[in-house]
Amino acid sequence: MPRVIVLGSGTPFPDTRRWGSSFLVQIGGEWLMFDCGPATTYKMYQAGFKATEVDHLFFTHHHSDHDADYPCFLLTRFDMSIGKENELKVYGPELTEQLTERIMGKDTGAYWHDIVARTNHPLSLYAYESRGGTPPRKPPKIHARDVTPGTVATGKHWEISSARVEHVQPYLDSLAYRIDSDEGSIVFSGDTRPCQALTELASGVDLLVMECIRLHDDMADPESAPGKYETSTIGAGQTAADASVKKMLLVHQNHNLDQPEQHTKAIREVGSRYSGTTIWADELMEVPWG
Ligand SMILES: [Zn+2]
Repeated sequence: MPRVIVLGSGTPFPDTRRWGSSFLVQIGGEWLMFDCGPATTYKMYQAGFKATEVDHLFFTHHHSDHDADYPCFLLTRFDMSIGKENELKVYGPELTEQLTERIMGKDTGAYWHDIVARTNHPLSLYAYESRGGTPPRKPPKIHARDVTPGTVATGKHWEISSARVEHVQPYLDSLAYRIDSDEGSIVFSGDTRPCQALTELASGVDLLVMECIRLHDDMADPESAPGKYETSTIGAGQTAADASVKKMLLVHQNHNLDQPEQHTKAIREVGSRYSGTTIWADELMEVPWG
């Protein structure tokens, strides 16, 4: 069965309990990562996993609470490599290729100096050999690709498709992803308001990982920006019900939802629309599958 680990379950707000988005999925023996919000890489190690184990990274969109740790992830994965790992594949909406190039690109990337130093200086070559690498040490090859709705990637035991969801276009494009495999199916909503494309993508899925940022009352005004571009408790519950999902994991939670009174109300509001199993995400939790 798939393993799903929550690395980041919050919003851009730097709360003590939860930070921006990231999730690990193990399926068919491969590790996939969805989004790479602040501190993702170090939280991954806290949870007992390694950057070098992740061969596929998917971005839902390029708000910084979903990608700010991308440089750290790329550099750590490179630095911990012994040159025998699979080359990383990265997928996301437009800007994914450009962002990757701006971080790691030869000569012009913001961190190219680090790659030059670590592939040449004896100190770094010593560390590389100590870990089991054999010089010469090479710069990392990263296969980043801008993707659009449809089939995005296929592994040995899984296929990933995407749908365009509705968040902060035209400034940033946003995608939701669906994993299909013999072991089960999972959808990551990314950030979005409730929308038909997400409901269709999530139809009958085993697990919907769904944005739930605030109580309905805080977003009830349909003309307010939050009401127009994000999903509340009621919106999350309604989406899960409309898509007939088997289970829902609520993520991208505003820190207010952790207040006991608001949390109780939030559970009630989600339950008013969706009667299936609902899990409120916490950092570093493994989501029970069965
Ligand atoms: Zn966003």
